[in-house]
Amino acid sequence: MDAPMINHRGPEFKALLKELEDGLRWAFQTSHDVLVFPASGTGGLESVVANLVSPGERILAVSIGAFGDRFADCAAAFGAHVVRHAVPWGEAADPDDVDQILADEPEIRTVLITHNETSTGVTNPLRELARVVKGRGRLLAIDGVSSIGSIDLPVDAWDVDVAVTASQKGWMSPPGVTMLSVGPAAWERRATAQAPRFYFDWERAHKMQQNGATFTTPALSVLFGLREALRMMREETLPAIFRRHLQIAASFRAAVEALDLRLVAAPAAVSPTVTAVYFPEELQGDLAKAVFATWRERYGLIVAGGQGQLTGRIFRLGHMGAVSPDDVLAAVDALQRGLADHGYGVQPGIAVDAAQRALAEPETALAS
Ligand code: PMP
Repeated sequence: MDAPMINHRGPEFKALLKELEDGLRWAFQTSHDVLVFPASGTGGLESVVANLVSPGERILAVSIGAFGDRFADCAAAFGAHVVRHAVPWGEAADPDDVDQILADEPEIRTVLITHNETSTGVTNPLRELARVVKGRGRLLAIDGVSSIGSIDLPVDAWDVDVAVTASQKGWMSPPGVTMLSVGPAAWERRATAQAPRFYFDWERAHKMQQNGATFTTPALSVLFGLREALRMMREETLPAIFRRHLQIAASFRAAVEALDLRLVAAPAAVSPTVTAVYFPEELQGDLAKAVFATWRERYGLIVAGGQGQLTGRIFRLGHMGAVSPDDVLAAVDALQRGLADHGYGVQPGIAVDAAQRALAEPETALAS
């Protein structure tokens, strides 16, 4: 696509920004304001804290993994008294537990939740969690970095006050832009919240965007990519995108099962965008590094490792955005070959066959 550098204070940029805002509202399924900042997803999360939290205030952070911990740490860095509801890694949060905490802690006004925990391959039951949080009248901010645009998150229908994502995930674009929706209750809170803010001040960003520009120099090249991604996504439609992610995740899980390996995620909480798998016992620890190198160097397969307590114990397959059934089969084949090269043998081709069968399953067989 033709993507020249343009004057970011001129009419072309105004049109680009308008198209992005419309497209993001469509993808977030919201009529709320959408803001874009040149930053990674962590910047989007920091903007939530900087705009909504006051030093000393008690807030609830529901953490089911490394990125939930990061959101909580960010709030603590801005002086919030963070009540951490930490769920064992591999499990999703239980809405009844969150309801109980909120019942016991009437002074908590804000709740931070990760929709899809990329470190463990777990998706939270967000619809139910949102019902609980909003039922108790609290403000709800969601880390949707690895979910929005890939996993259904209807912001308005679920009454989500703030939702954050980032260009490098399901948006099929280079890293460098964070995008978020801000609803009326969040704007109201922002007006009284006391945390220091400058770069990520939503109010100024919003005013600038209303005039067709951004406060700072935008990450123009990333925004061109994002525009193209949104056009592709509109063509595919959201229901088809969500279904494709479910199907592809199901096929990776079928391959993992055929390889006789164990998922990190509890069965009811498996993610449509990332599959986290325990290495066979004998390949855990230092040997895992050699397996990653084999996958990368011999088979061109990039596999992520574990984070925090899962370092050296697991591998993670990301499958969000532009992933096709052929990509799955090629990845699964490479996966099995790499493991076999390190002595983990199962019958050749068994994982690809299992993945292929799962890809042919009817939609009704898909777990979300
Ligand atoms: N939250 C989640 C759920 C993520 O997956 C990530 C990135 N993997 C982040 C936050 C942090 O985003 P970034 O690396 O873009 O700052």
